[in-house]
Amino acid sequence: MLDVQEVSKRFGATVALDELSLDVADDEIVAILGPSGCGKSTLLRVIAGLETPDAGVVRWNGQDLTEVPVHQRAFGLMFQDLALFPHRDVKANVAFGLRMARWSSEATEARVAEVLDWVDLAHFGERDIDGLSGGEAQRVALARTLAPRPRLVMLDEPLGALDRLLRERLVSEVRGVLKQARTASVYVTHDHAEAEGVADRVAIMRDGRVVQIGSLPDIRSRPRDEWVARFVGV
Ligand code: ADP
Repeated sequence: MLDVQEVSKRFGATVALDELSLDVADDEIVAILGPSGCGKSTLLRVIAGLETPDAGVVRWNGQDLTEVPVHQRAFGLMFQDLALFPHRDVKANVAFGLRMARWSSEATEARVAEVLDWVDLAHFGERDIDGLSGGEAQRVALARTLAPRPRLVMLDEPLGALDRLLRERLVSEVRGVLKQARTASVYVTHDHAEAEGVADRVAIMRDGRVVQIGSLPDIRSRPRDEWVARFVGV
């Protein structure tokens, strides 16, 4: 279980995170929904260990992660730009993290086949990355993120670069795959429909804080203040 407790982070005079608290259960998908500049990316970077908080603590199953470096946290990160290797095929891209973790070639092959099957790309292993559609590339990136069995997956606007129609279709697919992987997930978006479609709970963020958390229908029927009410479109 991820436990973020009263984490603060400033950049000069800018308060990016302001005593923010959040927990995510082992098989739960939590969407972080908030306007641009409210601190969503900074929160992911602090959880990942790419950024050190000024105050507060990030824990996993009770363990304080402050001294645990990025690569030892066993967290997976997927960004909007996907960062796939263009000159390698799908299999090599998905196998990347496993090679870094020194999995055997048999275990790697089996795991790559398994995660490609999850994202419906079982027969795409030998395909060139350059020849994939936007939606296919997104699914390869998701498979690559999940392959090393991260205990937490963080997705930062993973569908942001795709057109609306494709995004709507992929949202439920992404949810299905994350549920199949049985991993805790933090999904950052500024798109309400996406948050609602993908997540078990939605955390509404404003000015570096989580101001309300729950299902979107619940938040809509009981917004805690006027700002939240307006933000969720009541
Ligand atoms: P979001 O992802 O919700 O758009 P960010 O976490 O990127 O928000 O940013 C939150 C605030 O912190 C913004 O005001 C942003 O300009 C500021 N910020 C983020 N990273 C840095 C940085 N490295 N240096 C200075 N300011 C930053």
